[in-house]
Amino acid sequence: MAATVLVVEDEEPILDLIVAYLKAEGFHVRAARDGFEALTVARVHRPDMVILDLLLPGMDGLEVCQRLQQDGGPYILMLTARAEEIDKVVGLSVGADDYLTKPFSPRELVARVKAILRRSRHGAPAPDVPPLKYHNLVIDPERREVHHHGALVVLTAREFDLLYTLAAYPGRVFTREQLLERIWGHDFERVDRVVDVHVSLLRRKLEDDPAEPTLIQTVRGVGYKFTG
Ligand code: CA
Repeated sequence: MAATVLVVEDEEPILDLIVAYLKAEGFHVRAARDGFEALTVARVHRPDMVILDLLLPGMDGLEVCQRLQQDGGPYILMLTARAEEIDKVVGLSVGADDYLTKPFSPRELVARVKAILRRSRHGAPAPDVPPLKYHNLVIDPERREVHHHGALVVLTAREFDLLYTLAAYPGRVFTREQLLERIWGHDFERVDRVVDVHVSLLRRKLEDDPAEPTLIQTVRGVGYKFTG
């Protein structure tokens, strides 16, 4: 089934261009011209992925990104006009999965969208893979749900991918580069922090005491491991 992509951009020519390219590739495409419309469309049509411009009238792209992530959320590719904004997008991360700076080539954009969706499917376990269970934590790859102490924990798509990757190999140490490659897929130069940010987001949601993590441990100078 073709993926649904929501494009959020207030500049009509850019919006039209992106929509045309994605449609030509067989995606179901929805469009929104500001943040409020984006949230409404996302609620109704549950896109697999959102292409989100950073500068929008009214609510800016960062806020839209945060709100989209609040209930699990789709994969998000941010568009930014200025390279300086990249740190804001991936560093402080509001959960964007990838970004492109304007001007970008529509072909590159389509390639990124495909890579993210392919990776998410490729990384998705085959049906009937049993949930991973560790003490109070249950990770169900088929439903992409996590329960901790019996309660559902809402994770973003990337947070889930990160947790599942680590938890599928308890005790194995993953370097930041390995996690970036497996989960984000391409080279995020100089933003190793994106892994750290997502680990800390996961800890906040899952650890009884995020300052003294027991599930995902830091291996100093190397990376992270799941200890369940
Ligand atoms: Ca704009």
